Amino acid sequence: MEIVDIVPPELKNNVIVTSVDALFKWGRANSIWPLSSGLACCSIEMMCAAAARFDLSRFGYEVFRSCPRQSDLLIVAGTLTWKMTPPLIRLYEEMPNPKYVIAMGNCNIGGGPFADSYSVVTGLDQIMPVDVYLPGCPPRPEALIDAMLKLKKRIQHPELALGTEDRMERSRRNLELMTRISAEPEKVE
Ligand code: SF4
Repeated sequence: MEIVDIVPPELKNNVIVTSVDALFKWGRANSIWPLSSGLACCSIEMMCAAAARFDLSRFGYEVFRSCPRQSDLLIVAGTLTWKMTPPLIRLYEEMPNPKYVIAMGNCNIGGGPFADSYSVVTGLDQIMPVDVYLPGCPPRPEALIDAMLKLKKRIQHPELALGTEDRMERSRRNLELMTRISAEPEKVE
């Protein structure tokens, strides 16, 4: 017998029976709190997404927090340089679990127009696991909203995300590398 079967028929229109797990996923997916952080031009589009014209608050995602401990989404918007990776990793590590990452913009995903530069990270997933990739230079605010709705689907259905463990492992290895680079920068060519 399913637990829903114990609800009397006269209450079936008013009573919802679900699992705690499903309730948590529903809550997380509908109240994402992004960290207020931006690196370059893409972050202007991120700000626009939260302003009146695009109104991210329609989806319950507008509560940008200034503290990583109150955030569960890191939108890495803009060009990421190697010099900025230690503070960015620190912010990511200070966020409580479960936490999510959106790589916003071509620069973030693969270096964009600066891919040949010695100073630009050619892929955010080299240093942390990325949940949603949002290409464009810059991606429009609607595209960011779409990325957040894709993240919502991913939170509700984590089984759809393939290779999460592999991505975590690769990012862990890259994090170790970054820590070594930060400790001994003179050894990096
Ligand atoms: S992807 Fe384009 S808009 Fe975004 S940070 Fe890079 S150069 Fe700027």
